[in-house]
Amino acid sequence: MNLLGEIREAIKGFYSLAVGMGVTGKYFFRPEVTVHYPRKTVDNVSTYSGHVELQPGKKNPDGADCIVCGTCVRNCPSGCLTLEVLELMEENPDLEKKPKKIKKLKALIYDYSYCSLCGQCIENCPVTALGFSQHVYWAEFDRKAIKMDLVARLKDQLNAKKEAM
Ligand code: SF4
Ligand code: SF4
Repeated sequence: MNLLGEIREAIKGFYSLAVGMGVTGKYFFRPEVTVHYPRKTVDNVSTYSGHVELQPGKKNPDGADCIVCGTCVRNCPSGCLTLEVLELMEENPDLEKKPKKIKKLKALIYDYSYCSLCGQCIENCPVTALGFSQHVYWAEFDRKAIKMDLVARLKDQLNAKKEAM
């Protein structure tokens, strides 16, 4: 490269640096819109959509309204949901008839490490049993630690709520 070319490259470099410093300078004097986590946290996380979770039931306030249909599992593009179902025999009040077989949700295993938060499971649940959590301040070193049973998680949340009352 001749001298003229080198001067042209240097001018381009300085121009690019000046543009970058201009952007930095503009934001440096504006009010902060982020916090220095973990030293500070945000109190209002109402607009945050975190990992998927089971919602407290409207029909079943001690658990979820899940009807064990499996739609969430089938609709998940990342295969992060697995259903564990309990099959029970329910006594039929009409003694002439045989006991009925009923299905109950035992566990809903969710692997957050594969979830893209696409919302397909939530949108397609026929009983709105699923939602996004506001569980924002959560970090782990091991991806296995973010695989969880959503039924157990909901139970813990409901028990904690009862204890706080
Ligand atoms: S949000 Fe999407 S990727 Fe995550 S569990 Fe639901 S369907 Fe699967
Ligand atoms: S959470 Fe909803 S979609 Fe998934 S099995 Fe239960 S009722 Fe069906």
